[in-house]
Amino acid sequence: MSDSAYDVAIVGAGIVGAACADELARRGLRVAVVDRDTVGSGATAAGMGHIVVMDDSEAQFALTRYSQHLWQQLRSELPDDVEYEQCGTIWVATDEEEMAEVRRKREYYRERGVATEALDAATLRNLEPNLRPGMAGGLLVPDDGVLYPPCAARFLLERAQQHGAQVRLGCSVAHLGQGCIALNDEPEIRAEFIVNAAGAGSPDLTAGLEIKKRKGHLVITDRYPGFLRHQLVELRYLKSAHSVSSDSVAFNVQPRRTGQVLIGSSRQYGAEHKEVDHAMLAWMLQRAQEYMPGLAGLSTVRSWTGFRAATPDKLPLIGPWSADKSLLLATGHEGLGITTSLGTARILADQITGAKPEIPVEPYLPSRMAREHVHV
Ligand SMILES: Cc1cc2nc3c(=O)[nH]c(=O)nc-3n(C[C@H](O)[C@H](O)[C@H](O)COP(=O)(O)OP(=O)(O)OC[C@H]3O[C@@H](n4cnc5c(N)ncnc54)[C@H](O)[C@@H]3O)c2cc1C
Repeated sequence: MSDSAYDVAIVGAGIVGAACADELARRGLRVAVVDRDTVGSGATAAGMGHIVVMDDSEAQFALTRYSQHLWQQLRSELPDDVEYEQCGTIWVATDEEEMAEVRRKREYYRERGVATEALDAATLRNLEPNLRPGMAGGLLVPDDGVLYPPCAARFLLERAQQHGAQVRLGCSVAHLGQGCIALNDEPEIRAEFIVNAAGAGSPDLTAGLEIKKRKGHLVITDRYPGFLRHQLVELRYLKSAHSVSSDSVAFNVQPRRTGQVLIGSSRQYGAEHKEVDHAMLAWMLQRAQEYMPGLAGLSTVRSWTGFRAATPDKLPLIGPWSADKSLLLATGHEGLGITTSLGTARILADQITGAKPEIPVEPYLPSRMAREHVHV
């Protein structure tokens, strides 16, 4: 495509950068990937790995649904350590008001071809006996799944390498733009296109990006096979997770193939340190135990935190940055970047190669952000 050493150079070897590298290299482009750390070491290592269709907005639905299909198509090629399981999500309703939300969500999904099953209280209890008695019911979305994100990122990046991509780890990027990535201790990398896929670190490299860090906590238990069978999420999650200002916790638990139970989740703005906040953790576990009292009796083996890259409108930024015609963004995926990485990669590669995208891309274009600055 150009006289540069690469057609595309990507900053970030998280799941989004890895997926972009894979897609572009398989389309025959010369690709380089740079990361200051190891593969999948940022939010990707901290994420829950729920591959989930969401309906917070039409654009969110379109990207999550598109991406979920892509994960399903990839399923047979995923190595064992990616631990892809199509366990389904159950959105849990505690009362009649939330059952109304079950019906609304079910209708929304039905109109758009997503399989669901409304569950009454007895069926829910039968499917997930460790939920506390007295739940009103729920909505089962059987196509949703789970995977282990760092291994998924590694798989995508290795596949990109098999198609010629060059990967440089342990290289910190000082700044980027105008077809160039300047590294702290090594010669610069030149490419026709640069992709900022640096997750929560992306605003440090592109001035004017309205991305905030949104801290999250997770806890994992010892092995208790059969304790949990589906990813369970409280329906109130829609209220708590999508608040754009205050701290929140939500009941969100995931069965791992190992028999472990992954317990989430919390959301905090303005908490820049990565240490576990014990008050936040206690609040999150208390919420989980309100739904599943038996969790209190399980041993936990580890807790950790990670930073979601949050945009003001809760949609990722995918595509050209108008202040620099060589620069594209693939960032701002907040709590859905594991799910939406594959859709992001397709959209970005379509933009670079001039191919027709399979879904409308306007909602994700960075040009929607009012405040763009000339990059540093
Ligand atoms: C607690 C929690 C739970 C989550 N659960 C889910 C879930 O269930 N489902 C889901 O779909 N999503 C989930 N997410 C969101 C998901 O993890 C992220 O959206 C996704 O991992 C973002 O991937 P990324 O590649 O954009 O960023 P990252 O994984 O953060 O990768 C960015 C990379 O850029 C590198 N980098 C940054 N700055 C520089 C620099 N200057 N020089 C060189 N390299 C640099 C970093 O080292 C890093 O490797 C969750 C997130 C959290 C925190």
